[in-house]
Formats: sequence, C-alpha cells, structure tokens
Amino acid sequence: MIELLWLLLPVAAASGWWAAQRRSADCRGATVHNADYFKGLNYLIDDQPDRAIEVFTRMADVDRDTAEIHLALGNLFRRRGEADRAIHIHDSLIARTNLTDDQRRRAMLELGEDYLRAGLFDRAEELFQKLLDQPDHTAIALSRLIHIFQQEKDWRQAVAYSDRLEQISGESKRRQTAHFCCELAEAANAQNQHDEARAWLRNALTRDPGCARANLLLGRLAMRTGDYQAAIAAFQAVEQQDRGYLPEVIALLGQCYSLLGRLGEWIAYLRDVQTRDHGARITDALAEWLLRQEGERAALQFLERELREYPTLLGLRRLVEIKLARGEGAEYTDLRALHCISTQMLNSAARYRCGYCGFVVKSLHWWCPSCLQWSTIKPMPDLVMKTSA
Ligand SMILES: [Zn+2]
Repeated sequence: MIELLWLLLPVAAASGWWAAQRRSADCRGATVHNADYFKGLNYLIDDQPDRAIEVFTRMADVDRDTAEIHLALGNLFRRRGEADRAIHIHDSLIARTNLTDDQRRRAMLELGEDYLRAGLFDRAEELFQKLLDQPDHTAIALSRLIHIFQQEKDWRQAVAYSDRLEQISGESKRRQTAHFCCELAEAANAQNQHDEARAWLRNALTRDPGCARANLLLGRLAMRTGDYQAAIAAFQAVEQQDRGYLPEVIALLGQCYSLLGRLGEWIAYLRDVQTRDHGARITDALAEWLLRQEGERAALQFLERELREYPTLLGLRRLVEIKLARGEGAEYTDLRALHCISTQMLNSAARYRCGYCGFVVKSLHWWCPSCLQWSTIKPMPDLVMKTSA
C-alpha cells in the first residue's frame, strides 16, 4: 500500500501541476478534478488501488490538456508491471495532434520503455531510432538501443552505438565494448574463422587492456592451433589482469606445459602463484603434480599441511582419493563415504557468484543475467577459509 502511494506521487505531482494550470482558466473545472483527485487518494488510503487508478484514468481522459497526467499514469502502470495499459496510454497520447514537440518526444520515449518492458524489442528499437536526432534524447535513446542490441546479440551494432554514446557522453564504455568484441570473437571462432576471432580479441584488449576474457579466449584459440607457448603467455596474463579468473585457466595451463614437456616450469609457476593464492584449484594442481612426480607420501604431506591452514573441499576430496587408492584397509568404508559426500557437495555447489548483485550460478557468465553487469561473475573461492591463527 505504502509502495503504491509512492508510485502514485508522479500522478499527484502531475495532477497538482494540471490543477494549477487550470485554476486561472477554469476554477470550476479544477474544483471538479481536485475532488476526483482526493477521491482517488481516498481509494488508495482504503487500500483499493484498482478503483484509485480508475479515478486517475478518468481524470486523464476528460480533458485534452492532460498530457502530463497521461505521462505520469502510463509510467505508473509500467512500474506496476502493467505494460499493456502503459502502452495504451502512451500510444493514445502520441496520436493526439495538440501535443507540444517536447511532450511528443517524451511520450515516444516512455512508449519505447513500455515496449522494452513488454519484450517488444523491434517496436522499441523503431521509436528509439527516431529519437536519436533529438539532442535532448540522443544519449538515452542510444543507451536503450545498446540494451536492445545486447538482448538481441547484435554485437556489431552494440559496439558502434556504444562508441557513439561514449563520444557524446564522455563516459567510457570500453569495458563493455571489449566484451562485445569478445562475443564477436566467440562467434567467429565457432565458425573456425580463427584470424577474425584473433582480430576481435586484439580489438578487445586495445579497448580494455584489463579484459581477462580476451586473454582467456586468446589462450584457448592458441591451444586449438597448437601454439602452446602463446597459450601459456595468454593464460598467465589472465592472472595479472584479474586473479579472480585464475581458476578458469589453471587446468589449461597445466595441459600446455605438459604438452610442451616443461613440467619443471609448470611446478615453478604453481609454487610462485601459491605464494599469493591458496585457492582450491592451485592446491589441487600442486597435489596432483606431487603425486605424479614424488609419490603418494609427498602429496599427502603437502595436502595435510595446506588444508590445516587453508581448508578447501576440493583439497579434502583429493586427500581422501589418495588414501583410497592405497586399497582396502580399516578406514576404507569411511573414506569411501567421505569421498561420496564431498563429490556430491562439489557437484551441487554453485561455483560462480556475481560480486555486484550476489547472483549465483553453476557456469561462468560474462554478463550477469540478474543485474546485467559485465565481468562481475567470478569463480567462488570453493569453500576456502583462512583459519584464524
Ligand atoms: Zn549481478
């Protein structure tokens, strides 16, 4: 109820404005409308929002000079999720012949917002395109068109319009346009157009040198073409750009070093990274390497030492796996159950979380489906907890 009252404030403001306008011209008409306005408010206070809206709608219908009330009422319906009613109000407003140019443009803008809310992107796009030439509305029209192009995955248009918006507003759009270029690179890659993909990724890094996604994709592309040295350089750059994405490249780095037969460099790299990052996947990769190169005892000693200070579920499961591989002993049944439980927990846990809105998800999304921010979803620390000393 209180929320609805707040939503109706624009209507109240518009009604006040309208009443003030009318007072000088027609005191009796204004009194009638003021009576309607208070009637509407009473319905709100009595928790009868539908009847209140009826009254406000009737107020807007009876006079041809009530554009402001129409605009406010349409916005109210849209905020309430009633996009169809908002469209009807704004559309009929635009059809009037007696609007000022400013009112008509504002009505077009609002109608575009209604279409967006209703998911009618083609109609919204048509309206926002018409507003691009209106200096007062160019920036907002561009931002809405960019939103539409992202929804429609029209990344080339998204890049072009973002560049235009950046020019007009002076506000950097580099971070998001780098992602648009990465999207184009992924599309080219899917069609085996490697040169084009590489060009888009370099474009992304020119726009945003901190774009970890571009280096992640460059590394994968280099692996596909057998250039493991280039892949290592790209994956290691990811850690320099944003350590939060390191878990995404650790396994790939291990593969590259292994394929090049440079395991000594791999372990040196892992140990160097571990001086600043005790994440689960670093610990797991080190334990795996120790198991292969130095045997079970060295791997277990490392894991027991590491997990005591930096407990992780992945590390615990690795420890149990190594003990299980010893064969059936007195603890075998317990270890088997522990392995099963830890595997179930790892499989069912959300692995990624948006640092902006808290949205959790099982696979990596570069564009948060909840808050629509880029690069805010990152791997979760995998139940890493630093124990208190
Ligand atoms: Zn988010």
